[in-house]
Amino acid sequence: LTILGIETSCDETAAAVVARDAAGRGEILGEVVLSQLDEHSAYGGVVPEIAARAHVEALDSLIAEALARAGRTLESVDAIAATSGPGLIGGLIVGLMTGKAIARATGKPLYAVNHLEGHALTARLTDGLSFPYLMLLVSGGHTQLVLIKGVDDYERWGTTIDDALGEAFDKTAKLLGLSYPGGPAVERMAKNGDPKRFAFPRPLVGEARLDFSFSGLKTAVRQAAESIAPVTEQDVADICASFQRAVSRTLKDRIGRGLDRFRSLHPGIATPALVVAGGVAANAELRATLQALCDAHRFRFVAPPLNLCTDNAAMIAWAGLERMAAGLPADDLAVAPRSRWPLDRQAATLLGSGK
Ligand code: ATP
Ligand code: MG
Ligand code: FE
Repeated sequence: LTILGIETSCDETAAAVVARDAAGRGEILGEVVLSQLDEHSAYGGVVPEIAARAHVEALDSLIAEALARAGRTLESVDAIAATSGPGLIGGLIVGLMTGKAIARATGKPLYAVNHLEGHALTARLTDGLSFPYLMLLVSGGHTQLVLIKGVDDYERWGTTIDDALGEAFDKTAKLLGLSYPGGPAVERMAKNGDPKRFAFPRPLVGEARLDFSFSGLKTAVRQAAESIAPVTEQDVADICASFQRAVSRTLKDRIGRGLDRFRSLHPGIATPALVVAGGVAANAELRATLQALCDAHRFRFVAPPLNLCTDNAAMIAWAGLERMAAGLPADDLAVAPRSRWPLDRQAATLLGSGK
């Protein structure tokens, strides 16, 4: 089976053609991602209007490019998968409408894919993982610990009650006058900083629930910067290093509890897997922390290549293939995009929030 995937939920326009064989192995036949970073960097964040317009301009040629790289045509794929939420509504409309138009014109089935499901299933494409496993999604819009039980079967164990982790990096960078996106800038500065200089809060550490909170950390960074004005380059480095240390320690506590819970639910799995996804997974200190934590808990730490951790269309295509292979029905062409769409059906009913 081969499928064309389309992703337009945030600030990446992407298309990919992915195949899945009878044994369940996936292969990316062709993919292309266009980041809109340059369009948004002057504003210090993603501007929805600009994003939607950029998706419209780029998508058709990106689809053609992905098909060309795969040596396929619209007629020679078996289905279309398009992200239909959660995300910025303008971009979602562009991608989903394009997917519908292709499906209508070719008569192929359309799969309206949840962006988070794309992140959740990527490790089965890259590493052939089997269910169940745990996923930590840490991006600009999401911070979630999710139990991946099967296709269309997810249990959200924890989420942020305020800022996403990538957002905390971005806001911290902005406060300190560093460039956008903030994650790489903070990480670069932290290399020359003293992680012990500031005792930043470690939100929710010690609590039994598996949620996250990062807005207090951002406030503490602001107070630290204000207390030492004028701030030197060394001060900024020290704040960044201390911030990153606080984040690492917080994740260590939160995720450690998640690993324990997984172990008690599934004592029969000798070496379960923790998968990381999202742009913050690029951070070397956080990766090292998660690796050490997994080693200590006898978990396997799976970090897919970074271009598949951040937003891409191969994961959307793959999620579509997984849904097909699991016998889930294709979507009606009347399906509507959803800016909020939690992965966990129970969370969807209880909270009605995409965060
Ligand atoms: P979504 O949340 O909808 O999946 P997004 O575009 O916000 O999409 P990603 O593209 O996956 O998320 O990741 C971007 C985020 O990752 C930004 O907040 C950025 O600051 C953060 N980030 C990138 N590199 C690093 C790094 N080295 N350290 C920490 N954070 C990083
Ligand atoms: Mg992005
Ligand atoms: Fe994403």
